[in-house]
Amino acid sequence: MRLSQYFLPTLRENPAEAQIVSHRLMLRAGLIRQQAAGIYAWLPLGYRVLRNIERIVREEQDASGAQEVLMPTIQSADLWRESGRYDAYGPEMLRIKDRHDREMLYGPTNEEMITTIFRDGVKSYRDLPLNLYHIQWKFRDEVRPRFGVMRGREFLMKDNYSFDIDKAGATRSYNRMFVAYLRTFARMGLKAIPMRADTGPIGGDLSHEFIILAETGESAVFCDRDLVDKDILGRAIDYAGDLQPLVNEWTAQYAATDEMHDAARFETEVPAGRRLAARGIEVGHIFYFGTKYSAPMNAVVSGPKGEPITVEMGSYGIGVSRLAGAIIEASHDDAGIIWPESVAPFRIGLLNLKPDDGAVSKACNDLYATLRAKGVEVLHDDRDLRPGAKFADMDLIGLPWQVIIGPKGLAAGKVEVKNRATGARSELALDQVAATFA
Ligand code: ATP
Ligand code: MG
Ligand code: MG
Ligand code: MG
Repeated sequence: MRLSQYFLPTLRENPAEAQIVSHRLMLRAGLIRQQAAGIYAWLPLGYRVLRNIERIVREEQDASGAQEVLMPTIQSADLWRESGRYDAYGPEMLRIKDRHDREMLYGPTNEEMITTIFRDGVKSYRDLPLNLYHIQWKFRDEVRPRFGVMRGREFLMKDNYSFDIDKAGATRSYNRMFVAYLRTFARMGLKAIPMRADTGPIGGDLSHEFIILAETGESAVFCDRDLVDKDILGRAIDYAGDLQPLVNEWTAQYAATDEMHDAARFETEVPAGRRLAARGIEVGHIFYFGTKYSAPMNAVVSGPKGEPITVEMGSYGIGVSRLAGAIIEASHDDAGIIWPESVAPFRIGLLNLKPDDGAVSKACNDLYATLRAKGVEVLHDDRDLRPGAKFADMDLIGLPWQVIIGPKGLAAGKVEVKNRATGARSELALDQVAATFA
């Protein structure tokens, strides 16, 4: 993409309404624009990031055996009356009436809807386990929408729902999601720690929130420091096998959000030097809730002897749009965003330092064409601007690599390559660039 033709409305000044760094940078780097409180439009650069996050989430869900569907955003109130949640949900639910005065709502989550889809389509225990997910916009009329996309009212969530015939099966489904979540967040360069979360009236220990440590996080969290650096990506995963030992490894040490925190246990179980009391951002949440919806909504299959079995369910959420902000909270510096390669809107920023120099422009155009032909995503800053402004914009938008071409280097057949994360600069022969990045 040529920057001279790209819609990238960056801001020089810090927007007054943004209290935290990710919100400031998302506005300044031209990723999003607010349309109403907690409701955002995604501009080209931001939308590329959002799609990359979505792609990683989707790849890991598919690898775990979950199947993608797409449910609507608008739901009927009657559906929620079946589970008894229509009245219970409260003012976070956006309630709407259609022209026939029928009560509708903008979905804040989809347990009810998926349960009806399941009960209509699955009749036998032989069809289980089943795990269905979608990536769809949600609406929650949050009391205090803030921090940009981190606590929006309209936000993109990946949510899935598992169906099993018994608790043992449901635990296996839960473990698959547990491991898929570890991998998903790690692939985005995040250190997300699974922490015990409240299971409400269901009880048990099958609820975890996945938390990124950040000073601006809204939850107080407590954990063993050893959990921060555990690596999942180096581990071989067999989703058809027994994942319990792996899950045990990640749950053996103390980690709890404030609602579940037990100060006495924390002090007994975690040596003083490893006690981490911090703040965190909830980027995902997995939850086993048994027959909470299947019982009132009659999601029943027939068992091996024809007996009726009320299915055991779990639900699993990831804040896809929240992640864009969370990744920035975890990865930025004073100059701007530092995108991990996996979610970066482009891999390379190509800077033409002297657009009115024919040789420099030719070198840039040729390199741009070669990289694109090799499938490398490049944002080519061909604008008629002074170098300082180009450097500042490129640092602000945070592409992982900068390839800088100016008259002096070019005369010697060289370009400069800068790594945005480390700041390390190196010289490369112009004819080596394509091979280095392809
Ligand atoms: P929170 O505690 O932050 O209000 P939640 O516990 O209400 O979140 P869940 O119902 O567990 O949220 O939804 C699954 C995921 O959706 C959350 O882990 C979070 O990443 C994301 N999410 C929830 N609410 C919002 C929101 N208002 N804006 C952006 N993402 C959200
Ligand atoms: Mg909430
Ligand atoms: Mg929560
Ligand atoms: Mg939650």
